[in-house]
Amino acid sequence: MTSGIWILGDQLFEEQAALQSCVGQRETTPILLIESAAHAQERPYHRQKLVLVWSAMRHFAEELRQAGWHVTYAIAPDFQTALLDWIQTHGITELRVMKPADRPFLTWLRSLSLPCPLTLLPNNHFLWQPEEFSAWAKGRKNLLLEYFYREGRQRFGVLMEGKQPIGGQWNFDKENRKPPKGKLNPPKPLWFEPDDITLSVIDRVQSGKFSAYGEIEPFRWAVSRSQALQVLDHFIRDRLPGFGSYQDAMVTGELTMWHALLSPYLNLGLLHPLEVIRAAEQAYYDENLDLNSVEGFIRQVLGWREYLYGLAHYVDEDYPQRNYFQHHRPLPDFFWDADRTEMNCLHQTLKAIEQTGYAHHIQRLMILSNFALIAGLSPQEVEQWFHAVFIDAYDWVMQTNVIGMGLFADGGILASKPYAASANYVNKMSDYCKSCRYSPTKRTGDDACPFNFFYWDFLNRHRTKLETQGRMSFILKNLDKMSPDELGEIRRRAIEFFEGEPIR
Ligand code: FAD
Ligand code: SF4
Repeated sequence: MTSGIWILGDQLFEEQAALQSCVGQRETTPILLIESAAHAQERPYHRQKLVLVWSAMRHFAEELRQAGWHVTYAIAPDFQTALLDWIQTHGITELRVMKPADRPFLTWLRSLSLPCPLTLLPNNHFLWQPEEFSAWAKGRKNLLLEYFYREGRQRFGVLMEGKQPIGGQWNFDKENRKPPKGKLNPPKPLWFEPDDITLSVIDRVQSGKFSAYGEIEPFRWAVSRSQALQVLDHFIRDRLPGFGSYQDAMVTGELTMWHALLSPYLNLGLLHPLEVIRAAEQAYYDENLDLNSVEGFIRQVLGWREYLYGLAHYVDEDYPQRNYFQHHRPLPDFFWDADRTEMNCLHQTLKAIEQTGYAHHIQRLMILSNFALIAGLSPQEVEQWFHAVFIDAYDWVMQTNVIGMGLFADGGILASKPYAASANYVNKMSDYCKSCRYSPTKRTGDDACPFNFFYWDFLNRHRTKLETQGRMSFILKNLDKMSPDELGEIRRRAIEFFEGEPIR
């Protein structure tokens, strides 16, 4: 019997379950990695995402060869052709794959007609297996992150003193929302020069065969485990101490603030979530860092990341099609071209994404998704766009973040109310409004900020649905204070913004 292992592009670590299952027979176990052109052509991707994934795969294949594994690296028209060729060439009688993190890919893999049996091993890149998440979720009235996160802290003994959380409370979120006043000096991110492997992938992506978006150079992302570890060290030393306070702040020209820049590497397998969590926890003990920074960061990885993965496997298959508010407006063109909007907050965020494939959490949530939500854009078009433009986008993390957290299109499975906000929020948490042609304090008139008229129009249009969300009642009372004339003018502005098409 010959077992062969197919390593998927987001499973790039030697401790992964399929490789571990054959670690004693490394010289005789055929290993396959496939760069599929068809997969890259299925939808547009950020050019730097294609370079990142393929370069990281090529680096990993080299590392495995050096560690004594017998590796085939196929640059192929599609997955299936390369897989079947390799099975035949190596006389493989059992195909082993670590379970894909993405549900659609898992379904596709199971549907393949293979000449040998397929063995799927549990995905050990996450701390919670989908079955464990289901057991936690079953029978609960609501699936709020906070309870899941507390369970994770206890289960993995992170920042705990016996059964109690260190510092006497689980969550220091309220201390993580400082507005960006005065001159802030966030540390510079750690970037890398492309090596020969990366340069050859850049050539391939530039060949014009892929329907891609964004700028390809300068390409500065880490592409190997050793580089990803340097980014982790750099984060723990230089960025984590300041991570907490300005977690929600946005400043022109400061792409990353104190954020970790770790999602591309975590999502590819170059870093394991538990090593990242432990590194932050250790720094708390060794360096006496502020708990609001360390807890705030650990909540993102041990809490949100695991929670969204669990949820992605827990929800019904039709989850990506949900559309609670029945929003159907097509994505405006400026999402693909930052220069086509005069809204400075959107312009700054979209420009940064074009250049790097990255935006930090609050830009994703409170600028991009917030706009999409209140302007009534189709959740499915928005989700496709997010998937296309972000360096760290995968189905498991994208669908729940966009459909659930960002757009409330799931009707409130993961969020207790929609993350909808007017220009007031943007003006408080960023410096964008200072150099914008719109006024953040106006909701009517020629210079009224679109975030204002869309926000009030959204509340007005969906009043009935929003009234059922307890936490919205205070805000909805403010609608009653507005005159019918003003509401009419707000509606007119919202319609005119999209050249006269009414929002359904
Ligand atoms: P930091 O802000 O420094 O956070 C540290 C780590 O925590 C991240 O690296 C990430 O692994 C984890 N994390 C934090 N929040 C989340 C979250 N909501 N979901 C999952 N992990 C989280 N994250 C992705 O990895 N891929 C995506 O495609 C993606 N799309 C998003 C779309 C929307 C609409 C929203 C609201 C969030 C999205 N996120 C996504 C989550 C989050 O914004 C990114 O993980 C984060 O911005 C990555 O940058 P960072 O590494 O500097 O993160
Ligand atoms: Fe964005 Fe409005 Fe502020 Fe302009 S005024 S930056 S559009 S929130």
